[in-house]
Amino acid sequence: MSQPSTLVILGASGDLTRRLLLPGVGSLLELEPERELRILAADRADLDAQAWQDRLQPALTEGGAPPEVVQAVAATSTYTSMDATDPVALNALLTQAAGEGGARRVVLYFALPPAVTERVCHAMLGLTLPRDLHLTMEKPFGHDEHSARALNTLVAHLVPDDQVHRVDHFLGKSTLLDIMAVRFANRLFSAVWSAEHIESIEIAYDESLALENRAGYYDHAGALRDMIQSHLLQAMALVTMEPPASITARDLRDATAAALRATTLWGGDAISGSRRARYTAGTSIGRAVPSYVDEDGVDPARMTETLAQITVEVANDRWAGVPITIRSGKALGATQKHIVITFRDVRHLPRGLKGADPKDRLIIGLSPDTMELRITTNGTDDPLELEQSVLATTLRESELEAYGEVIAGVLDGNPMLTVRGDAAEECWRICDAVLGAWERNEVPMEEYPAGSPVPAAWGAALAD
Ligand code: NDP
Repeated sequence: MSQPSTLVILGASGDLTRRLLLPGVGSLLELEPERELRILAADRADLDAQAWQDRLQPALTEGGAPPEVVQAVAATSTYTSMDATDPVALNALLTQAAGEGGARRVVLYFALPPAVTERVCHAMLGLTLPRDLHLTMEKPFGHDEHSARALNTLVAHLVPDDQVHRVDHFLGKSTLLDIMAVRFANRLFSAVWSAEHIESIEIAYDESLALENRAGYYDHAGALRDMIQSHLLQAMALVTMEPPASITARDLRDATAAALRATTLWGGDAISGSRRARYTAGTSIGRAVPSYVDEDGVDPARMTETLAQITVEVANDRWAGVPITIRSGKALGATQKHIVITFRDVRHLPRGLKGADPKDRLIIGLSPDTMELRITTNGTDDPLELEQSVLATTLRESELEAYGEVIAGVLDGNPMLTVRGDAAEECWRICDAVLGAWERNEVPMEEYPAGSPVPAAWGAALAD
């Protein structure tokens, strides 16, 4: 039975709360209808109680919460219109959240713009905080290594780091969690998971969708900050980490942080270790797409990339010499969301086996959740002619949405599926070197027509 908790949402009338957070809570309540959860919402928007209920209830239902559970949670949920940076209002809200005798766990969810989150943390410095307070911070956590470190120092004055949950919902994705079983529970893979047998790794999140009216956010972020700095580097850490002693918050986050600390740009700098591009006019998913620079709300002078790729090396004994390519982009000809592990060729093929030996690959689909093993077999026409065969499966999809999975951990006070402070800093360290070189124009901005494949020169793993 989980401990009673109060989820305090700052920024409760915002986009994240409506689209991801509340449906995520709804998916958790579908699976655990007996969970004792209270939701206190706050935002500066002037909503009355009914207007809040009109947002809360459909969003929980959308996530899958049964009607009687939605009713029960809604009955105790309140909305406060306030400035979240006001210490007096914040104090009142947190006291209400902790309940009689301060007995409840309080999860303070910052669904706020990052600069406001920081101001709220400053405002909390002078308050007497609830005994069992957990802070849940959204990405981006800082805007570079220096600011991430400063934010870590600030929140360390409020609660211990294992009570700070930096959300990266990719860590709640079932395929990423499956990596641990695949790697550590199969001799077939655990024995060959190193530079000796693996030639290269690609982690890609390529989308066919273009900007979809999100210039306000995207033109300031770009593909590198949007996807690579957070989600895809976390995925890389899970793929390359040393086996943790246990799948617990401490051991798992020790292992992923160590992998990130060992990560350097391929060739030592962003000139050899990164590429960037933006789309020009074309057709994607049957629709005419204007050039990125002509999209509404885009400032071409910002030089925002819509396709980014970095190549890194995890510089340790297990991985030295293996290029790990991490890529994400928009308006591409095909959606490719996957991790591709490419194995080395065998050292020697017996005479008599004919033809080229196709690359053996393990392909983990990130959405939908699939797994494919491409191996070399005998040919269908000529039994001695080599051919590639595919063993494919659709993986068990978690019953919880990724957000629900992460929130379940947060409400239980378990930070395992969230990002530790030092790991957040490491992700910025890797990306800062690239962003700096891009700002100095040391890496050219390439172009690709919307709806075209990843440019051939970028060497996408499955382009052959
Ligand atoms: P929104 O701007 O939609 O929502 C933020 C909410 O906070 C708004 O309702 C805003 O009010 C309110 N707010 C701002 N300042 C204050 C204040 N001082 N006191 C009280 N309320 C305030 O942002 P999102 O929901 O999109 O994003 C929230 C966070 O989640 C950000 O850190 C973002 O990076 C992160 N995130 C968002 C995702 C998404 O898909 N939306 C995905 C992943 C992360 P007002 O409208 O009046 O400014």
